[in-house]
Amino acid sequence: MKYVDEYRNAELARKLVDEIHRITTRPWALMEVCGGQTHTLVKQGIDEALPAGVRMIHGPGCPVCVTPLEQIDKALAIAARPDVIFTSYGDMLRVPGSTTDLLSLKARGADVRIVYSPLDAVRIAAANPDREVVFFAIGFETTAPANAMAVAQAARLGLGNFTVLVSHVLVPPAMTAILESPTCQVQAFLAAGHVCAVMGWTEYEPIAERYHVPIVVTGFEPLDLLEGILMAIRQLEAGRAVVENQYARAVKREGNRAAQETVFRVFDVGERTWRGIGTIPASGYHLRSEFARFDAEARFDVGDIHTKEHPACIAGQILQGTKTPLDCTAYGVLCSPQKPLGAPMVSAEGVCSAYHAAGRGLAAPTAFPLYDLTRSLREAIK
Ligand code: SF4
Repeated sequence: MKYVDEYRNAELARKLVDEIHRITTRPWALMEVCGGQTHTLVKQGIDEALPAGVRMIHGPGCPVCVTPLEQIDKALAIAARPDVIFTSYGDMLRVPGSTTDLLSLKARGADVRIVYSPLDAVRIAAANPDREVVFFAIGFETTAPANAMAVAQAARLGLGNFTVLVSHVLVPPAMTAILESPTCQVQAFLAAGHVCAVMGWTEYEPIAERYHVPIVVTGFEPLDLLEGILMAIRQLEAGRAVVENQYARAVKREGNRAAQETVFRVFDVGERTWRGIGTIPASGYHLRSEFARFDAEARFDVGDIHTKEHPACIAGQILQGTKTPLDCTAYGVLCSPQKPLGAPMVSAEGVCSAYHAAGRGLAAPTAFPLYDLTRSLREAIK
């Protein structure tokens, strides 16, 4: 295949759905790790086209959603300072903190700027030597190479006014935490293809073996997901549990070595707190000691901010796959994309926003503005 729309081919999608139905003999619960995968599943109705009893559990792979509330509050405290230019990817701006969000802060005069790359933040720092420039470095292994490169570049340029507020999380420890949970229902994983494009899949092999759980590295287009589901169910039906790669056009077993070297030159692995899940050992990146001067938490002394979630928000249980947005009493009532209570309703990868955009469980559905092609695929696999 050469073009992206070929991965949305309705006829091929129908064949894959038929094959999934043909080989499935009993109920299975699969988790798609990444929020981008969740959005494709929900938008195309793939999860509703699977055989009765085959369930997709939506995983924790939305970086905005798993960034803890206290990290948002730290960002707000730093961004409110008159000496600071606070830079971030756009998807963090509407994530609610305890009292406000970055966009509201910007509307009140704070210098909050959207950037498309952390290197843009480095350029802003170089152009504004009399201001402190902070970049909100969140994300999984996918964004870590660019963020590491920005820190290394700031070091090379000798910038004393550039720092990063780091909130990086790692996928394999989260999968292990989910499998260790006494409430775990997951029997197979669709691993996030873009994370594996950076890190490869060797880290997943001991997980598949230890917990006897199939793991299929999977892409994000409808045919990727259907093929990933088919491969996972084939393994489950056969009693196998190994790592397989559906996303061969982007992922190699060893990943991208150059990107990994950049990451580990700047970051160390350490404990991280995940929103709604809690603290997981060795589940995030922290700046190595030789780059400690680029740590915004230390520069602005916000390390001791601790806050609590909105009491109605069950994002933690949703991110662990034990509940869906439809179990949340606030869903569509107190919480909507216009007025989100929690990050999964804000983020473009959040499961609550995916359900809401597809109109699931809403009295007045707000359907996606679907392309004709998308509609025909939905129709084809119904
Ligand atoms: S619907 Fe809103 S309040 Fe409920 S879990 Fe999702 S983000 Fe939280």
